[in-house]
Amino acid sequence: AKDPVRVLVTGAAGQIGYALVPMIARGIMLGPDQPVILHMLDIDPAAEALKGVKMELTDAAFPLLKGVVATTDVVEACKGVNIAVMVGGFPCKEGMQRKDVMPRNVSIYKAHASALEQHAAPNCKVLVVANPANTNAIILKEFAPSISEKNITCLTRLDHNRALSQISERLNVHISAVKNVIVWGNHSSTQYPDAKHATVTTNSGEKSVRELVADDHWLHTEFVAIVQQRGDDIIKARKLSSALSAASAACDHIRNWVLGTPKGTWVSMGVHSDGSYGVQPGLIYSFPVTCQKGEWSIVQGLKIDEYSRAKMDATAEELIEEKSLAYSCLNE
Ligand code: NDP
Repeated sequence: AKDPVRVLVTGAAGQIGYALVPMIARGIMLGPDQPVILHMLDIDPAAEALKGVKMELTDAAFPLLKGVVATTDVVEACKGVNIAVMVGGFPCKEGMQRKDVMPRNVSIYKAHASALEQHAAPNCKVLVVANPANTNAIILKEFAPSISEKNITCLTRLDHNRALSQISERLNVHISAVKNVIVWGNHSSTQYPDAKHATVTTNSGEKSVRELVADDHWLHTEFVAIVQQRGDDIIKARKLSSALSAASAACDHIRNWVLGTPKGTWVSMGVHSDGSYGVQPGLIYSFPVTCQKGEWSIVQGLKIDEYSRAKMDATAEELIEEKSLAYSCLNE
């Protein structure tokens, strides 16, 4: 039998955490033959709720779950973890702007970075979910210098999956037939969902989405808008933000990273920019990536038209601004 993998979930008593921990314990993140030990962190006001989640995990009698650490102590939470899913963060409440919560998130991610730096297992893989996800990941990288930049990522897989689902609805094909959409840039309203390289598997082979849709205008307008606004539509409908789809996307992100992407398929991940596609090096930017043997690499050589170029630059601009705002919070 395999040794258990230790998976940290911060903000574990929150909405996404509550949806995510049973998925991890069922093997959806790391596979049906991989035992796990869950480390759940939350803050003092959520300590009682966290105890309740731990009781439910016990009651669910998951065969793969070999242990649960539920704590409000960040050092205890980070000890020996192989995978860290950072969901905890200060929420952007109604009437607030991202910049209002930036100082709080900078200080949270600074503290979490130091704890991971000192106590996580070597080669720990980190996924930041809490917003502003890309910029929280940069702060984490800054304050955990011994964690390789290859191991610090942020979640844009939900946007990627939303883009796949919109194409599947538009073309009336099953979602599993659609692949290779791209989400470029920031996990925010400036993200650029791009289906120009996407394909659909049909009875007569692979077809380009662009040809099947036969309408660049739709790809440039409605498609982009629906993907960007999907989160708001869910809040309107549920009176709560998306949680099950975010949790599922976090599992997809880690599973593909650790176990690989299928041949001929890429996924979107927020990763350290090496300057690919003209994106400023050092930003955490969402790119198309393939994964093999636990390492992601950015898909190279895709042709970028003028329309896409402008969108990719605009979202990079926003990330540069967010980064400088975050660094200015550090000096306060
Ligand atoms: P959720 O579980 O709904 O969301 C957690 C974070 O994920 C938020 O930052 C949210 O951003 C972000 N997120 C990223 N992508 C998505 C997406 N597609 N859909 C929805 N959310 C997304 O929040 P809860 O308030 O239920 O839970 C947060 C937990 O964090 C609580 O248990 C709380 O106690 C804890 N917490 C920890 C802190 C700390 O560690 N110091 C500080 C504050 C809270 P957005 O805000 O934009 O929705």
